[in-house]
Amino acid sequence: MDVLKTGLVTALLMWLAFASRALVAQGIEITSADARTAARGPQTAYTGVGIAELLFRANDKSNMTMAEISFEPGSRTAWHNHPAGQYLYITSGVGWVQARGEKKRAVKTGDVVWTPPGVFHWHGATATQGLRHIAVWQFVDGSGGELEEHVTDAEYLAEPADE
Ligand code: MN
Repeated sequence: MDVLKTGLVTALLMWLAFASRALVAQGIEITSADARTAARGPQTAYTGVGIAELLFRANDKSNMTMAEISFEPGSRTAWHNHPAGQYLYITSGVGWVQARGEKKRAVKTGDVVWTPPGVFHWHGATATQGLRHIAVWQFVDGSGGELEEHVTDAEYLAEPADE
């Protein structure tokens, strides 16, 4: 009986030790705004000036990435997709989004845009007004998406869909 009790106590202590370590490992992490930097998006991925502020990137704890991006008037991403789709939350201004094969659509402050996995699309400011949005997307097998050609002026300035 004593052997059984000792065994149970040992098992309980081991479980507590394991559980407390797990709790420490899953603690809250705060990344200070002071440490954040903004950078102009690469010219392969943007037409015009898009300033990207990476809020967090996919890591060993989460495959999500979030960035806030500011587009000057006329600025937009190149055609691209995301393997697990993407949410955009428009935080300021007005802009356009377009899925390949569809007409572009107008978006404004407060709108949320969902683009399904694999769908080629672009997002950006209008020709005359700036846009700022938060983008949230997941990495799959180390990839956040595929990048294709720039959006031509003809595509960019084409008539929007009727809302
Ligand atoms: Mn996108």
